[in-house]
Amino acid sequence: MSFADLGLSEELLRSVADAGYTEPTAIQAQAIPPVLMMKDIIGIAQTGTGKTASFVLPMIDILNHGRRRARMPRSLILEPTRELAAQVAENFVKYGQNADLKMALLIGGVQMGDQIKALDEGVDVLIATPGRLMDLFERGKIMLNGCELLVIDEADRMLDMGFIPDIEFICSKLPEARQTMLFSATMPPPIEKLSRTFLNNPKRIEV
Ligand code: AMP
Repeated sequence: MSFADLGLSEELLRSVADAGYTEPTAIQAQAIPPVLMMKDIIGIAQTGTGKTASFVLPMIDILNHGRRRARMPRSLILEPTRELAAQVAENFVKYGQNADLKMALLIGGVQMGDQIKALDEGVDVLIATPGRLMDLFERGKIMLNGCELLVIDEADRMLDMGFIPDIEFICSKLPEARQTMLFSATMPPPIEKLSRTFLNNPKRIEV
C-alpha cells in the first residue's frame, strides 16, 4: 500500500513526501479513503499510530477542493488538552503548506484577544479544546453553523476529563448534515453512546 493509492491529491502527496513518510500507517491506510468519500468514521487507535495524519490529510484535501464561504469555519477539531491541540495545529501547518487554508488554535491559558482577532479575519479550520471553544461561543465570537467537518479526537480522554456535556452542546450547534470522525484508544459505553448519537452510519476502524 502506498500513499498514492489512497485518493489524496498531488499537493498532499507532496506534503507527505516532504514529511519523509514512505508508506501509510495502518490507521492512515484504512481511514483516509472513507474520509475522502465523506463517510463518518470511528477510529480506534492510540497516539503514536499516525492517527493525526489520518484525519488532517484528507481534511485538507476536502477543504481545499470545497466551496469557500467568506472564510467561515468549515471544520472543527476538538482535542482534550492544549498540548494535543497545539500538536495537531503543527501537523496542520506541516501538511497544509501547499494549501491555502487558515487555521485558528483556540486553547485556554492564552489571551483571548488574538484568537478573537483571528476569528474576525476569517478561518477555515478551528482546532480547539472544549472549554475555550465554549467560552468563545458563549461570547458570540464563533459561528459553528458552517462546520461541516468535525473531528472528536481522544474521545476517551475527553470522557475522563468531564468534557462530554460540552461536546454534546457543541455537536448540537453544528449542522446535522456534516461528516464526523471520532478517534479513541478505547470505546467505553459513554463513548459508544456518543458515537451512536452524533455519527451517521460510521465505518469502524480498529488498529
Ligand atoms: P500520531 O499518532 O498522529 O501522534 O503520530 C505519531 C508520529 O508518527 C508523528 O511523529 C508523525 O509525524 C509520525 N508519522 C505519521 N504518519 C507517518 C507515516 N506514514 N510514516 C512515518 N511516520 C509517520
